[in-house]
Amino acid sequence: MSNRKLCSLALFALMLTALLAPASAASAADSKNGTEAPGSSIEPAGGGWQDSTTPPFPGEQHLRCGTPSREVREALYGIATGDPSDCSANLTNPTPEYDPGPTYTIDVVVHILMNDACTQGVISDELVESQIDILNEDFLALPGTNGSNGTDSAIQFRLATVDPDGDPTAGITRDCNTTWFDDSGAYWNSLAWDPNRYLNIYTNLASGFLGYVPFLPADGGGGQVGQPHDRVVILWDAFGRDAPRGPPYDQGRTATHEVGHYLGLEHTFSGGCASETPPTCYSTGDLICDTNSESVPHFGCSPSSTCGSEDPIDNYMDYTDDLCMEKFTLEQSRRHRCTLPNYRSGLDTGVIFTDGFESGDTTAWSTSVP
Ligand SMILES: [Zn+2]
Repeated sequence: MSNRKLCSLALFALMLTALLAPASAASAADSKNGTEAPGSSIEPAGGGWQDSTTPPFPGEQHLRCGTPSREVREALYGIATGDPSDCSANLTNPTPEYDPGPTYTIDVVVHILMNDACTQGVISDELVESQIDILNEDFLALPGTNGSNGTDSAIQFRLATVDPDGDPTAGITRDCNTTWFDDSGAYWNSLAWDPNRYLNIYTNLASGFLGYVPFLPADGGGGQVGQPHDRVVILWDAFGRDAPRGPPYDQGRTATHEVGHYLGLEHTFSGGCASETPPTCYSTGDLICDTNSESVPHFGCSPSSTCGSEDPIDNYMDYTDDLCMEKFTLEQSRRHRCTLPNYRSGLDTGVIFTDGFESGDTTAWSTSVP
């Protein structure tokens, strides 16, 4: 392992234990303003960034996603051997049994973390609801939305209506704590709702990234799932539709990308120019065959070819602009639908929509199981 990756590993281990803030608030703010000199940011948490990439947005190259690379995660969580699932850390077997069928419904709690004065990181209920809507547009490929060109995964999201104590809830919590806003202090030990039952999303400064998850569900054979640190973290001003930070990362696709990780997907550029030939492509690269490989993450929206085929710049698991991302492929969808029963079976509430995707109207939900 290179010194650079060891450095990344050490930094991420610090983040996991939450003993130190891995990035300062100033770092994220500088990135946001585009004033950060290239390379001056902290090393990305996962070491998954590619130095050869030249994104068109100054200061953004160290910002897109802090989810650790597969290599770093293996070092952190161990390499699972004998994991028999069809969506393990080392293999996808995306057979048609995982085609979209009965709808999975995932209850979400959004924890909004603000500074001590409650003046930074402020997010309205309406913006939270718009982010839930975008997740549904993208995972359901709803017609007439930005997500319509993707695959309907038959996975839907709603803000939780019942909290862990059984009481009614809006599925949103708010705390004013500068340490937590700085993405430090192991806030999840105080705030997490049972991660086996709820998708816990936190908004704060996200350690200088647009977002991250600390692990993928199959890592270490699934042993991380359900622990308090099981979470999705999103930079507060990249959250929701027409998010405050403005283009190009203001249309809620950071959350779509990170929930893609949360449900088992690697980056499209994982492994670089990996095999595109079955069955090898199911156990190398991003473990998916119907996503073209690419040597580096792609920023912006311009078509490119880095591995002899068209780079998958329209895929949610690349690093392109929010409005250029518009699809999960069928095999990515099957991996999602394999991940839920194999690693996150407690998430599915068995509740289905009756009115499309409105997240704010709880009367729109039925409790019938498809
Ligand atoms: Zn990512």
